Amino acid sequence: MFPADELYGEWTNEWVNPFRGKKVDLPDSCIIDCSTFVLPMDSMTRVTSKYGPRRRRMHKGIDLKVQIGDTIRAAFDGKVRIKNFERRGYGYYLVIRHPNGLETVYGHLSKFLVGVNDIVRAGDPIALGGNTGRSTGSHLHFETRFLGQAINPADIIDFENSIPHQDQYVFRNVKINGRKSNIYTSSNSQMVYHRVKSGDTLGKIARIYGTTVNELCRLNGLKSTSMLRIGQSIRCSAGVETAAKATPKAQTQKKSTASGSSKKITVQASSSATASLGENTNTMNDVEATPVYHRIKSGDTLGAIAKRYGTSVSKLCELNGITKTTVLRLGRSLRCS
Ligand SMILES: [Zn+2]
Repeated sequence: MFPADELYGEWTNEWVNPFRGKKVDLPDSCIIDCSTFVLPMDSMTRVTSKYGPRRRRMHKGIDLKVQIGDTIRAAFDGKVRIKNFERRGYGYYLVIRHPNGLETVYGHLSKFLVGVNDIVRAGDPIALGGNTGRSTGSHLHFETRFLGQAINPADIIDFENSIPHQDQYVFRNVKINGRKSNIYTSSNSQMVYHRVKSGDTLGKIARIYGTTVNELCRLNGLKSTSMLRIGQSIRCSAGVETAAKATPKAQTQKKSTASGSSKKITVQASSSATASLGENTNTMNDVEATPVYHRIKSGDTLGAIAKRYGTSVSKLCELNGITKTTVLRLGRSLRCS
């Protein structure tokens, strides 16, 4: 057996993209729990290169400064899928598949500490940092991938604080011309805009983004008869903020977390953002039932957490199988709903 079996359906020790050259039916949306993330090195140094287009190639990961011989650690629990060498690319590299559906890639390593098909725990040493392959200066090239596609690690992880922006993400398969594009966006980047081109109509834009003319009018303060200006930006998805106001339930959720970091977006709020696009209702119901988790920070008490999530201490104890006197370990995820 291998992690995220139901999502991938196969296991290869060969290609970084396991679906390379194959036609596969990828899901409409998926909930990814990133709450157990561990920084792949002992302490955060600096980002030496961001994810994104770089000269004529796409840089599919983020470069983190490490010295040759520094310990590289597994970002989540998982199973080593690839251990390989690519002279003109990754150098010595590892790919690990995780139960949450993500895969992580670690490149330019100098030494492997794990073997292919090994089971690893989040934080386990897996390799030593290096400068192998297409690399100038020792660094760790780190990628996060979902179903073979690279996703900007900085969309998921707040590298400044070495923690995920959110404990959970809803990844949506973006619809283009009413069909699944198999391009995923995380719930963090749900505010999707379209730049009006010659020949565009609201109807056409609605079709491209799998929404309705009414919804586009509402989001942009337009009438269905409004003239579109070329170059105008049209907001095509509700985004988290609007959705939070859309339903009373989401609003309560939003309010209860208001005292926390503004970056924390609850799953409830983001799921209604997805639901407002009027896509697969069944999937959305699943999302609706998703529990909300809280990561223990220094100074947290059960009472404070209960208050913040609009619940009670006994409910928290019941949900997490703990007692009122249980010591809360920093970084632990506590189920709050
Ligand atoms: Zn890189």
